[in-house]
Amino acid sequence: MKLSRIILALAVISTTPVMASEAIGSYSSGKLKNSESILERGTRIHKLFLARKRFFGTVQIQDVISDAADFVRQEIPDAELLQIGDIANEHGGACAGHGSHQNGLDADIVYLTNSKRLQSPTAPHWDEEFVKNGKMTANVNIERNLKLFKFLVTTQPVQRIFVDAAIKKEFCAYAKKNNLMNDQLTLETLRRLRVEKLHSTHFHMRLKCPEEDLACKKQAEVPLGSGCN
Ligand SMILES: [Zn+2]
Repeated sequence: MKLSRIILALAVISTTPVMASEAIGSYSSGKLKNSESILERGTRIHKLFLARKRFFGTVQIQDVISDAADFVRQEIPDAELLQIGDIANEHGGACAGHGSHQNGLDADIVYLTNSKRLQSPTAPHWDEEFVKNGKMTANVNIERNLKLFKFLVTTQPVQRIFVDAAIKKEFCAYAKKNNLMNDQLTLETLRRLRVEKLHSTHFHMRLKCPEEDLACKKQAEVPLGSGCN
């Protein structure tokens, strides 16, 4: 190779930026550039719905999932591995069965349970309901989930955690019963627990737009207050 070509090749290499992931558009109508797969992290999680191949997300969401998995193993050692459902498709976009999960900032996670049973990664759907006849089932471990939710809220990029109405009700009752309604982190966590239908099998974690992702459509900040009344 001629020297001039070598210099040109080196120049191209040195100016190629590291590909950062980018969330584009909104959670319900968006896409994802340079996504990262949670499986490539080597994080110890239990990934469900393997056949759907929705392993992908922004670097930020994979950071949060990995940190949360490490947190559970270290701080809640009695709990099962974090069971992760859908994140997003490799390039984002429409995600059948979901209204969102389009720009790599949403992830579904199974509530931590007393049974610690891991669901089959090859099952086509969630195989446990945590709300029956409008009431949270006894298999949901409130203490462990609250610990995990508090951790997620302190990571900052987590803006919302969608849960079933019956589940939020139990968390509010638990906080009141244990005199936690004056504790700032508990209140902030309850505030970010957002009631949403179709979350009786899992909770849904949503990150805010990364500052550097200029084409990401921001969602309004969560209103103040615990939302328990
Ligand atoms: Zn979801």
